[in-house]
Parts: sequence; C-alpha cells; structure tokens
Amino acid sequence: MNTAWFDELEERIPTENVRTRFAPSPTGYMHVGNLRTALYTWLIARSGGGKFILRIEDTDQGRLVEDAAALIYITLRRCSLTWDEGPDVGGPVGPYIQTERRDIYARYAARLVEMGSAYRCFCSKEETEKLHESGLKHCPCRSHTPDEAQAKKDTGLPYVIRQRIPEGGQTTFTDAVFGAITVENETLDDHVLMKSDGLPTYNFANVVDDHLMGITHVVRGSEYLSSTPKYNLLYEAFGWRIPVYIHCAPVMRDAQNKMSKRHGDPSYEDLVAQGFLSEAIVNYVALLGWSPRGVYAEREFFTLTELSEVFDIDGISKSPAIFDLEKLKYFNANYLRALSPEDFYRGALPYLQKAVATPHVDLTLIAPLVQPRCDTWEDIAPQVDFIDALPVYDNALYCHKKMKTDEENSLDALQAVLPLLEGLDNWTYDTIHDALTGLATRLELKNGRIMWPVRTALSGKAVTPGGAVELCQILGQDESLRRIRHGIAQLSI
Ligand code: GLU
Repeated sequence: MNTAWFDELEERIPTENVRTRFAPSPTGYMHVGNLRTALYTWLIARSGGGKFILRIEDTDQGRLVEDAAALIYITLRRCSLTWDEGPDVGGPVGPYIQTERRDIYARYAARLVEMGSAYRCFCSKEETEKLHESGLKHCPCRSHTPDEAQAKKDTGLPYVIRQRIPEGGQTTFTDAVFGAITVENETLDDHVLMKSDGLPTYNFANVVDDHLMGITHVVRGSEYLSSTPKYNLLYEAFGWRIPVYIHCAPVMRDAQNKMSKRHGDPSYEDLVAQGFLSEAIVNYVALLGWSPRGVYAEREFFTLTELSEVFDIDGISKSPAIFDLEKLKYFNANYLRALSPEDFYRGALPYLQKAVATPHVDLTLIAPLVQPRCDTWEDIAPQVDFIDALPVYDNALYCHKKMKTDEENSLDALQAVLPLLEGLDNWTYDTIHDALTGLATRLELKNGRIMWPVRTALSGKAVTPGGAVELCQILGQDESLRRIRHGIAQLSI
C-alpha cells in the first residue's frame, strides 16, 4: 500500500499538550447540554493552555438544518467561547467540516478493510433486517475473502463498510469521569463506518478526525459511553494514541427526563429570547455537573476567565444535573444588578422601547428604577405597563395600612397636591420632591400620606419601580396632572 498520502496527513498532526474540540452536528438549536459540552471543552483547553477546535459534524445529511451551523458560531461567540481552529478561521488540520473530508474517511476506511478490521457489506436494508430477526449476528459479507468482496464490489453493488468487532475477548477503556469500563466484545455490533452514500457515520468520522486533528481530550455526552469501546478498537487497529475521554452525564429537566426541546425545555436561544444574559447562562451551565473545589468550593459566581482558572476535570460529576430555571433566574438577577448603569441601559433599551410607546418618555429615567427589580429582561415590561395607559384600578388601592391612607384622606391629599403641581414652572425631580414633601411638612403628615395617594393616582398599581416623585418625572407634568385629576374624580364618586 502506498502510505505517502497518509504520512503526509499524519505529519500535520499538531503536538500541543492539550487540544480539545467541540464537534456539534448542525441539526438545530444549541441545547443546554450542548452548550455545557462546548463550555467544558473550551475550559479544558484554556485551563491547560491548549487549543480549542470547532468541527462541524454534518455527515448525517438527513438531519441537517439550514443555518444551524451559523447559529452555532453565533452562540459560541455570544458566550465568548472563541475557537483557535475551525471552518471559518481555518487551521493546520482542516478542513473542519466533515463533508469536506470525505476523501480522508474513504481512504482510511479502505485501509481498515485492507488490514482486516473492517469489511464491505453488500446486504440490502431488508436483508440486514432479516438477519437480525433470525437472531444471527453476522451477515455472510463478514466472511468474504478479499477476492470475493472485490468481485462483488466490481459488479457495482452498493455497499457499506462495517467494523469487524473481534469475536471474543473484552475491551477496556478508562473515562476520566466514569472510571474504567469493560465490555465483552460479543455485546458490540459490527456497526457501519461508511454509508453507501460515501459518507462516514459518526462512529468512524469521530475517530479519524480526533486522531488527525491531534485531539488529546474528547469531551462529549455520556450517550457515547457505550460506543466508546468500538472507537477504542479502531484506535487500536490503526495503532493510534487513545485520547483522554471525558463523558458528561446528561442535563435533566427532572429526576427522570432529559431536557428536551420537544417537551418545551428551553435551548440557549430560547433563554436569550426570554431575557437571560449569556454570562449568567454560562456561569449557571458551568455548575450543571461540575463543582468547584478547595477554596472555591462554596463559590457560585464565576466569570469565564475565572472559570478557566479554576475548572478541573476532577470536579465533573457522574450524576446527571437538573436544570432549574429558578436557579438560573437567581444567577441572572445577580448579573443584571451587577451591570454598570450604562450597560444595563444598553441591554434594557430594546425591552423598554417595546414596552413604552408614549413619545418623549425619558427611558434613561426608567432604567435605573427597574434594574434592581429584574430577574430577566422580560421583567421590565410588566413593571412599566402603566406608563402608556393608566390601568383601571379600584379605589381600595388608595388604602394602605402602613401609610395610614384611606379613600377619604387620599382624596384630601390629591386635592391639596393638584394646585401645587399645577403651579410648578420647572418640572424636575427636586421641584416635585420639594412640593410634595413641603406639603406633608405643612400639614404635619408623614410623607407617605401624600406620596402613596399620588403614586396610586399616577400608576393605578400597588407596586411600581420608583415612587411618586420618579413617576411624576417620567410621566411629565401634563400627564401627571391628568392622572391626579382622574384620581380625584374617581375618589369623589
Ligand atoms: N456530533 C456529535 C453530537 O453533536 C458530537 C459528539 C462528540 O463530541 O464526539 O452529538
């Protein structure tokens, strides 16, 4: 066999100590579990001073979703999981899209056939089904001599290439999370490595690519744990170095069920659309199946840079993690509160613009009032819904025990406030504040006796971001006066 072609590829394999890859299939949205895999993979690369590679696994043509690859790039970038090599940035061992590597898989598969570790199978789908029904493990193709197989191939019959699993014995491998795993070879199938369309299955492509791309640590979901012995047999057949395996237990929606988009569980994109910050999602997702240890054991909040300093493989758990939206809200609320006023305003602006249509309302006044009261961006709209239109409210809202207000004294308060506010030439926080507190002082009342009725008249709500003065300022003089008059009228009936 001419090995020059293979030698040339093998010589390109980089030799860094740590090279990891995220290898998504472009089949839709970024699930929380996928994002976690990407994050852990990135963290292992970064904490080890190594390279993080992005590889698109698009060989299952039936499952491809248009634009899914673009969505993967966008998601990773939004989460700051930058890659050193990948389809768009290139690198020494490209191409990084599997359908562009057909020739490589075909040649390695042919080599495996020559070595006897794989064989061409000419059975039709029906024949394979029949075989399984009859309880037979292997089809006759497995026992073809090379000449017989070549003769069949020459007739132009379509075929797949199957891995030849050894008849007896065991295969053992060690997973960094799950420990040593041993399987009896007889429990493994001769699975398909190359399909009749000339494309590899995941089972083959992952091994060839991880080898040729110099991947040192393979991070993936634990659903691949049971197939890993077969991959090991391939590594052994080729005489390749086996990477460190890091299989991660699934992310669950509850004790029984994995998270699933079909059952309404949110993807990363859904969470962003629901008003969560990428930084908070990343922080929370890091802790779904990994725990910091030592001095960081009690800590919950980590930036990505901090994570890349403290993340360690030993902290990854074998137990499934349960995704808890409430816990994510807790993280998000903390991240929102920690934003600088400028950053909060920038992030809040689209939500404020959507929630407030009234022209000339100064949205910069509203942002700092809602900042401490939001778990997510979506919490902005319901807080400011009274700005465009005063809701219908009940007079009972004026009655507040602690403020010592009732309908009667609220009417008195509003009647006293109205001319004062009408008389203000200058409508600023200070002038409004002084007018209202001045009135309370003159009447020898606690501020609340005046502020509560005004706030109620302005908002028709029991809870608002900001108090009477802020609401006056936001609504402007004309609208504030109109609402106070409306309150007086409503209380007078
Ligand atoms: N393409 C596989 C998936 O999306 C990747 C598994 C792996 O990382 O090896 O599940």
